Amino acid sequence: MTTETKTETLTTDITIIGAGMAGASMVHMLKPALEAGLTITLIDRQPLKSMSEADTGAGTGADSELPPSFDGRATALSWGTRQMLETMGIWSDIAPHACAIDRIHVSDEGNPGQTQLTATEQDVEALGYIVENRRLGQVLLSGMEGLSGLRMLAPCSAEKVTMTPTGARLELDSGASLETGLLIIADGGRSPLPKQLGIVHERKEYNAHALVTQVRCDQPHGYCAYERFSSDGPIAFLPLGTHDFAVAWTINNDTLGDIMALSDADLIARLQPRIGYRVGRILEVGERQTYPLALIKASEQVRRSLVLLGNTAHSIHPVAGQGFNLAFRDAAALAEHINSAARKQQPVGDLAMLQRYAAQQANDQRNTVVASDVLPSMFCSDLTAVAVIRDLGLAGMAAAPTVRRLFARHAMGLGHTAAKLG
Ligand SMILES: Cc1cc2nc3c(=O)[nH]c(=O)nc-3n(C[C@H](O)[C@H](O)[C@H](O)COP(=O)(O)OP(=O)(O)OC[C@H]3O[C@@H](n4cnc5c(N)ncnc54)[C@H](O)[C@@H]3O)c2cc1C
Repeated sequence: MTTETKTETLTTDITIIGAGMAGASMVHMLKPALEAGLTITLIDRQPLKSMSEADTGAGTGADSELPPSFDGRATALSWGTRQMLETMGIWSDIAPHACAIDRIHVSDEGNPGQTQLTATEQDVEALGYIVENRRLGQVLLSGMEGLSGLRMLAPCSAEKVTMTPTGARLELDSGASLETGLLIIADGGRSPLPKQLGIVHERKEYNAHALVTQVRCDQPHGYCAYERFSSDGPIAFLPLGTHDFAVAWTINNDTLGDIMALSDADLIARLQPRIGYRVGRILEVGERQTYPLALIKASEQVRRSLVLLGNTAHSIHPVAGQGFNLAFRDAAALAEHINSAARKQQPVGDLAMLQRYAAQQANDQRNTVVASDVLPSMFCSDLTAVAVIRDLGLAGMAAAPTVRRLFARHAMGLGHTAAKLG
């Protein structure tokens, strides 16, 4: 692994811009391409400090030394993602930091409808797993150390992109240029690069933020996750450790300022009635972070020698914890095509191949994006008719194992043909 930047023209077979959750996962999935002799360059504008040295303390805020993907949040990994991590050989490094979800309890504040999904009923070891992002970062980034054929440029920002007859050319803030056969932009969608290529992002604002924090309760969580639709917006309580929860609370922009100004004691007093006492008594609350919520979709995801991945391709509402799981499935499908081309010594920027990848993922992306968009609209509505429908939905699910199974398969990331990775 190299981290230096040079003022010359570098060349590489594949370049990934962004060492966040999507870009870093992609590198691991491309190990067969590296073994087949291809070179990969990973660029991130944040320093990628040796993750063995990184602070991995629980419940603390963002570490400025790590890419923003690996901040104080926790991520719900679906059962399908866990299976793919296992195939990639890195689940054993994540497992010690992962809290299994045995049950998911879904309810609606002030209405009787509720339902419960269980791992036993779905015949799986766990419905999913909660892992702190900084732990994921630790495993993903340290697992790249020593990979032959991988060059890491960080901190280094890609400033300008142009497509060339043989691939793409990047101008880096170091003054160096980089020529690549395939460019994967996984920069989170906040850089100007896609726009420089005429790719625009369509935005739907939710006028809300996700407030993320951790709480400690006076009773063990029993590996149960809670999804509660409250008058302030949906709240997810995701189990961590034995008595802790990672909390993601969707809050309307109008009330965000008031809630952020509350003292810890007052925040607990506001949160407790929203979730009820099913989690026990909330004793402590950690640092708070907020994230603006919007549905963002790129107008194009593939061109010859170009792919947009992760949040750069689609950024969705986190209510159902599917953003990273979807990006991971995309990355796995893309890697399968690239690894196969690498083994056959075919060009990895081939348009027909990239279009096959896009077509393969189109349904999964569409379904996941629609589900993540419909849920918050439906559960944030104060309209009585909508409340009745969602209560009937929850009650119907409680009564019908088949409906529960379909819902669970989607939540577990199993409703799609998974890439084999290899
Ligand atoms: C509150 C919240 C909770 C969530 N919970 C879940 C969950 O439980 N389950 C789930 O599946 N998903 C969840 N998600 C979604 C998940 O966090 C995202 O899908 C994921 O972070 C996307 O990662 P990414 O790598 O695409 O982008 P990012 O995390 O934005 O990473 C982009 C990287 O690119 C780098 N970069 C940017 N521009 C440049 C440039 N010009 N040059 C070089 N580098 C650059 C940045 O430094 C960064 O490291 C949640 C999201 C939120 C907001």
